[in-house]
Amino acid sequence: MMRQYELVDRVTDYAPHANEDLLNRAYVFATQKHGDQKRASGDPYFSHPIEVAGILTDLRLDTASIATALLHDTIEDTDTDYEEIESLFGEEIAKLVDGVTKLSRLELSSEGSAHAENFRKLLLATAEDIRILLVKLADRLHNMRTLYFIPSEAKRRRIAEETLDIYAPLAGRIGMQNFREELEDLSFSHINPQARDLIKDRLASLQKNSGTQLDDISYTFYNLLAEHDIRAHVVGRQKSPFSIWRKMQSKSISLEQLSDIFGYRIIVENEDDCYRALGVLHRQYNYVQGRYKDYISTPKLNGYRSLHTTIIGPDNKRVEVQIRDKQMESVAENGIAAHWWYKDLGDGHIGELFDTTPASPDMETIEPFQWLRDMVAQIRRGGTAEEFLENTKLELFNDQVFCFTPKGRLISLPHGATALDFAYAVHTQIGNSCVGARINGRKLPLRTTLNNGDEIEIIRADDAAPRETWLHQVKTGKAKSAIRHYLREGEAATYAGLGKRMVYNSFESEGETCNPTLLERALGVMDFDNLESLYAAIGRGDVSATNVLQAVLPEHKIQKSDKRRGLAGAVRSLIGRGKGEDIQGDPSSVVLPVGAGRYGSAIRFAPDHFPLPQDKIVGITTAGAGLIVYPASSPALDEYSDTPERWVQMRWDMDNISRERLFQGRLLVSVINRTGSLSAITQTFADFGANIANLSITQRNDDFCDLIIDIEVRDVPHVSKLIDVLKGSSVISSIERITSPQQE
Ligand code: MN
Repeated sequence: MMRQYELVDRVTDYAPHANEDLLNRAYVFATQKHGDQKRASGDPYFSHPIEVAGILTDLRLDTASIATALLHDTIEDTDTDYEEIESLFGEEIAKLVDGVTKLSRLELSSEGSAHAENFRKLLLATAEDIRILLVKLADRLHNMRTLYFIPSEAKRRRIAEETLDIYAPLAGRIGMQNFREELEDLSFSHINPQARDLIKDRLASLQKNSGTQLDDISYTFYNLLAEHDIRAHVVGRQKSPFSIWRKMQSKSISLEQLSDIFGYRIIVENEDDCYRALGVLHRQYNYVQGRYKDYISTPKLNGYRSLHTTIIGPDNKRVEVQIRDKQMESVAENGIAAHWWYKDLGDGHIGELFDTTPASPDMETIEPFQWLRDMVAQIRRGGTAEEFLENTKLELFNDQVFCFTPKGRLISLPHGATALDFAYAVHTQIGNSCVGARINGRKLPLRTTLNNGDEIEIIRADDAAPRETWLHQVKTGKAKSAIRHYLREGEAATYAGLGKRMVYNSFESEGETCNPTLLERALGVMDFDNLESLYAAIGRGDVSATNVLQAVLPEHKIQKSDKRRGLAGAVRSLIGRGKGEDIQGDPSSVVLPVGAGRYGSAIRFAPDHFPLPQDKIVGITTAGAGLIVYPASSPALDEYSDTPERWVQMRWDMDNISRERLFQGRLLVSVINRTGSLSAITQTFADFGANIANLSITQRNDDFCDLIIDIEVRDVPHVSKLIDVLKGSSVISSIERITSPQQE
């Protein structure tokens, strides 16, 4: 295990101004926090974060990244939390550690490799700071190096497959070929050790035969280039067992049939020499058409630059050759990390050719997002056809946001999706019953747009129901159709309940007794499949309750209209026309659903009427338009005196109306025309928690000013108290609540 001073020395070697105190504190904190926790190997747990930090010093990362590596498992595996890390090590490191913790939680919840591509995109998108990803990759690399300590074969296999599916390609995506190859090889050794051994044996015997040949060709290239004054370092290289195996699998060919097991890398001093060396090789040997690629003028998105070609080599065999300069080589091996080292160095400032130590720029001036910015700029410029696939993949994840449930389940949504979309994506039932959301611990509205990496907890309530306005707050088709479906279903149920009540009322008002057996007789005659659909049709007004009565009791005579008028009067007196007995408790009245008027087709409030909860109300059924709710005192009801069967007694669903729900009421106020009068009134409204929705002046003279004020209040007692207080105000001469349009 690396000692504290060794780690610090390794960092100060390449970053002389590194914050040693910070590194020391992080080292000590990690060892103390992990205490006597043990790894599967029996080593103390804290050896793991220290090794991870060590891996990252090979990449010459900044102090914050190294400290993050040391602390990366403390939030997840010890009693420490974000706040403690932040107070001890600052916000930057706390955020990085938090980012790594999030990625690790994903790992726990990912099952199988079915979502590998999504998962890679998620990791890229979630790691807001690329350093989070680097720490995560180093973490995985160390875990893979020590994987054989894990006793369960199934578990080893699962981790190896996950590495192969997700982390190795990810390392490749950000250009870290060294990481990628090691991760692949380690995974391969757990997933298919026989195949790996076989290929290694064959490669060893091939190498024995062509080993000298490898050196011979390297030497030939070296001399050829030297003759043309090009200083070069030539490396003959064998492909990795895993990449050979993958090629054998994808092309179904044997090892012997593979032509490009060996490749050569020619490393020169600068970019010009790359093209000069290429010219020399192409003049000397035949080259294979279609295999030449110039990644120098058109770098890959991950920053990789090199010339690739395949030539018919010295002994008439196809030979793959990569030509690049030292900086390009370093980028090819270490990807993103190498971009930092060279950031402030101009071209041709690479130092001694075979000096393997990259120059160390001042770590404090490094801009970690530069690489990402370059990448985005490159996508905008539009790459070659070759990079099209890679581009579209990138754009794919730019179009998506990835969020988590509190248990770490991954939910992927289109860009711009809201917490409401998230709720429906988790489960339709959750969507239908949600009332709010906690996003990263903060309570926020359901319409809040989500960002990558957000953790969302949906708050639910039993009496919650989708509303029509939700349709404008969601982005996904799934949420939209679920909401529509619910609204339609809810409507049908409301209509059916209403229709049933209406038909029973109608029988009663005609002095008959209604029952299901009797009503079933109407089904065949009126062409309905069941009572529910008959009730719904009545509720919607498609079928009149009187017609149903006549259908089942043909000999019954509908009463004369003067008698009917009397019946309407009876209903009205029963309701009490705004005063008298309270019908709230009358079980024969229809409950006005909490959602009435919101998604509105089944039950709506009459226009220009302003009933409030606890006002007496009556419903009038209307053909095709459901039920229109009036305050029982409304003069507009006179119009329906002749049609008592259309009247429905109603009551508010007081038990289920939430305290937050506000209804619109209207006040007619006469104010003494004096400076400051209006502000005195509006202040009173505010004190009462009543919003002014609208205010208009109807009449004005020198002394008085008549106002119509629409207010949002909870219920009748709420507005009554408000009126009482306003009546005592010296600036108000009269105040009156209006529930119906004034009759002329
Ligand atoms: Mn770890």
